[in-house]
Amino acid sequence: MSTNLNLISLLKENFGFDSFRPNQKQIILELLAGKDVMAIMPTGGGKSLCYQLPALALPGTTLVISPLIALMKDQVDALLVNGIKAAYYNSSQPPQIQTEVLTRLREGKLDLFYLAPESLPFLLSRLVNSNINLIAIDEAHCISSWGHDFRPAYTKLRVLRNKFPEIPILALTATADRATQDDILEQLNIPEASRHIASFDRKNLYLEVKPGNNRQKHILNFLKKKQQESGIIYCLSRKGTEKLAATLLANGHTAKAYHAGMTPEDRNRIQEDFVNDRVPIIVATIAFGMGIDKSNVRWVIHYNLPKNIEGYYQEIGRGGRDGLPAYTLLFYSYADIIQLRKFAKGTATEEFQLAKLERMQQYAEALSCRRIALLNYFGEHVSSNCGNCDICNAPPKYFDGTILAQKICSAVMRLKEREAPGMLVDVLRGAQNAAVLEKGYNKIKSYGSIKDIAWRDLHQYVIQLINQGVLEIRFHQGGRLLLTPRANAVLFRDEQVKLALIDQVVKEAKETFTE
Ligand code: ADP
Ligand code: ZN
Repeated sequence: MSTNLNLISLLKENFGFDSFRPNQKQIILELLAGKDVMAIMPTGGGKSLCYQLPALALPGTTLVISPLIALMKDQVDALLVNGIKAAYYNSSQPPQIQTEVLTRLREGKLDLFYLAPESLPFLLSRLVNSNINLIAIDEAHCISSWGHDFRPAYTKLRVLRNKFPEIPILALTATADRATQDDILEQLNIPEASRHIASFDRKNLYLEVKPGNNRQKHILNFLKKKQQESGIIYCLSRKGTEKLAATLLANGHTAKAYHAGMTPEDRNRIQEDFVNDRVPIIVATIAFGMGIDKSNVRWVIHYNLPKNIEGYYQEIGRGGRDGLPAYTLLFYSYADIIQLRKFAKGTATEEFQLAKLERMQQYAEALSCRRIALLNYFGEHVSSNCGNCDICNAPPKYFDGTILAQKICSAVMRLKEREAPGMLVDVLRGAQNAAVLEKGYNKIKSYGSIKDIAWRDLHQYVIQLINQGVLEIRFHQGGRLLLTPRANAVLFRDEQVKLALIDQVVKEAKETFTE
């Protein structure tokens, strides 16, 4: 109780807030008790407070690892305004400032010390000799090559647990699927860390997917109704952003392109024009958005299919931060998939990237509530329709697929959750191929239990079950299928599953989606 009161008064005095956001207090209490924690919260969810407040509650200095120099500076400036002793260290500072910061660190005059991962090895022995009380790792997904934003410098953080055996480590991220979460904890050597996953649901974002043909015309029509509202259009290529921005300009819209090929000055200027409502429309590559704090983005359009669901969700998440309704639209075309496959080809993580791309494609082709599919992807097991997506608005024809789902789930169980959808379908259909026979799957009870559905259709039903959060794919383990808590409800508590009738729906969809 008294800790409670102290925390609230620290919160009020130093940050001016009256109460904690969901998860913050629990995370802080565990850190103060010396435990390792992983916090997964959407952008804007209030991650920073989870280490900034303990930094004040504990004697000594909190070490914060942060990948972006610009964000580091913003955070430290904000802390200084609140009278909190904070400083950052990175390679862009003049040597004199660096020395000054290190002196303050040594003398114990810092509550928070922000550091870029690249600089860690060089400062390690100094840090060990300073009074570090907590280690916070921001954007922790950057340590995982299974995530979508792997940064080699993050692998330098693996030494932290060894060098600071007694100090609690807090890993923070806004985006990580279940497998990436596991990997982060393994890479950081904190397998026992407790996980706090805040809800990722952004109820105010309307989710829509449309076929990619005539996108330009569609966007121009859309913009006629959206005069003056701020929005972002994401494109795959730099050239694509410039071309589309030029088209919009030619049609009387104030739009600017933004991509990593531009000078930092140009990029800063455009960003500021956008944030300050001077330019309502930005046509950008995914280089745009990280660290941009603009609450009134009313719509986000993906002109091209994103590489994976993490990126997609992060990008649409830049809409409607003020909580008011925002519209999101994803254009989906096979041409984009072919392009994205080419990009993945020959990279070290090709197989994994292709699997994530396929999952993105399955999302685009979803026949059930899109929000259910997204939230389940991030490990949030929800099953009620959102009422705020295109599918909920105009659902396809469903039939009672409970028995079919039960058969599929029990086969997944009998395959010991070791196999990918392809093998599962083979087994269910009683295929005689070598792979099935070698593994002895012809002897399990599910073998041949669904013979009367064509391979492709059955495969589609399996995908529907993934989108509905009944099954889950483990990408880095050959794409094997796992059962979720909802699968248990389906298997053992007769929870009803509605499936969209494949034959017509899918064939029609495939036809419209082909460019
Ligand atoms: P994240 O790092 O998760 O994107 P931030 O830590 O930047 O989010 O917090 C987002 C915003 O929410 C900030 O403006 C912050 O001051 C505010 N905030 C954080 N915690 C609280 C709280 N308990 N009460 C009110 N506002 C909060
Ligand atoms: Zn929905």
